[in-house]
Amino acid sequence: MKLDGKDTKVFELMRRELDREEYSLILIASENYVDEDVLATQGCVLTNKYAEGYPSKRYYSGCAYLDEIESIAIERARTLFGVEHANVQPHSGSSANMAVFYAVLERGDTVLGMDIAHGGHLTHGARPSFSGKWYRAVSYPVSAKNEMLDYDEIRGIARKERPKLIIAGASAYSKIIDFAKFREIADEVGAYLMADIAHIAGLVAAGLHPSPAGHAHFITTTTHKTLRGPRGGLVMCNADLAKKIDSAVFPGIQGGPLMHVIAAKAVALRQAMTEEFKEYQRQIIANAKHMAKRMADLGFRIVSGGTDNHLFLVDLTPKNVTGNDAQIALEASGIMVNKNLIPFDTKTPGVTSGIRIGTPAVTTRGMKEKEMEVICEMIDSVLKRPGDTSFMDGTRERVREMCKGFPFYSRIYDI
Ligand code: PLP
Repeated sequence: MKLDGKDTKVFELMRRELDREEYSLILIASENYVDEDVLATQGCVLTNKYAEGYPSKRYYSGCAYLDEIESIAIERARTLFGVEHANVQPHSGSSANMAVFYAVLERGDTVLGMDIAHGGHLTHGARPSFSGKWYRAVSYPVSAKNEMLDYDEIRGIARKERPKLIIAGASAYSKIIDFAKFREIADEVGAYLMADIAHIAGLVAAGLHPSPAGHAHFITTTTHKTLRGPRGGLVMCNADLAKKIDSAVFPGIQGGPLMHVIAAKAVALRQAMTEEFKEYQRQIIANAKHMAKRMADLGFRIVSGGTDNHLFLVDLTPKNVTGNDAQIALEASGIMVNKNLIPFDTKTPGVTSGIRIGTPAVTTRGMKEKEMEVICEMIDSVLKRPGDTSFMDGTRERVREMCKGFPFYSRIYDI
C-alpha cells in the first residue's frame, strides 16, 4: 500500500498522522493499532454497497455476498462472547448504547449508570448526551474509601430511584466489574441490565475479565479498543430480546450498515479467537500492572491502588501538575495520554488532577515490562519539568528511537 494520490493536501496529512502513530508512544487507553488485514478490509469496495435490513431480509438487490459476510460476523461474535444473539451493525459504541435505550425505554424513564466524573461514559446518563437529556438519569459513584464500586451503595441508589435500565461498565475504571452482583441489583428493582464492555471487550473475549454473558440482558461494546478491530459497535443479547434490539438498530436509529466495517469486524473477531490474541491480552494486563506499580514507586498516586485491567488513573496531585499540563508536556515529548478527572476531583474536566494511561497500543507493538519501565521513567522526568521545551524535544527523539525498535505500520507502508 502506498499513501499518495491526487488530493495531495489530505494525503499529506494522512502521511503525517501515520508518522505520528508510528513514532509516538500511544498510551491512550481507548486506542489501538489494527493490523493490515483489518485495515485492508475496512478500505475495500464493500463501502460502495447499500444493505439496509439484515441477512436475507434486505431492501436492496445485490446483497448476496454481504449477507454471507454479515452472517459470519454475527456467528463469530456469538461464539466469541458466548451469547445467543449479536447485532454487528452499530456504527459506534455510542450507537450500540443508544439502540438499547431505544429498544427498552420510553423518554423520561429512569436510567442508572456510573457517574462520568468517576469513570462512566457520556452515554451512561451524562447531561450533554441523549442519555442524560431524554431520560431521567441518575448515577452511582465509586466509594470515597477505596475508589472502587460499592455494590451495597449501588443497591441503595437503585432501590431509591427504581431505574428501568442499569448500566454496568466504564471508560476509566481499573478494577474488575462484578456483573453477577449488578444483575442481582437489577432483578431486585425490576430493571434491565446493560453491560457496556467497550473498554474491556478484548479481556472478556480472552477470559481474563469475568464475562457479563448470562448476567446482562444486553451487552454493548466498541470493536476498536482492546478488541483491536475497526472503529465500530456491537450489541448482544438473548434470543428473546433479539427482535427488539434489531429493530432498534435498524430502522430505529440507523440506516444503511457500513458493510466494509462489518467485514473488518468479522476479520478482527476471528483474530480474537486465537491463542495469540489471548497471550496479547495477558501481556496488556501485565504491562499495565507493571506500569502502575512503577509509577507508584516514582511517587505518583494510582487511583484505587492499582489495576486489574488494561488501564489505570494517575493522580498527579503529589507532583503539583495538572492533567491538562501533563497531557500537553507529554504530547510534545511524543507520549500520548489523556487528561482525566479522578474520583472526587476538585478540578474542572478541562483541567483535571489526573491522566489515564492504557497499554493496549504499546502492547500491540510488542513492548513488554522492560519498555514499560523506560516509559515510566520518561513520563516522570518530563513531568518534573513540564515547561522545559529542550527536554521535551530530547525525550521525543528518545521516543522515536524506541519506536523504531518496534516497527508496526512501517512494515507495510513506505514511511
Ligand atoms: N462506552 C464506553 C464505556 C466507552 O468508553 C466508549 C468510548 O470511549 C463508548 C461507549 C462509545 O464509543 P464510541 O466512541 O465508539 O461512540
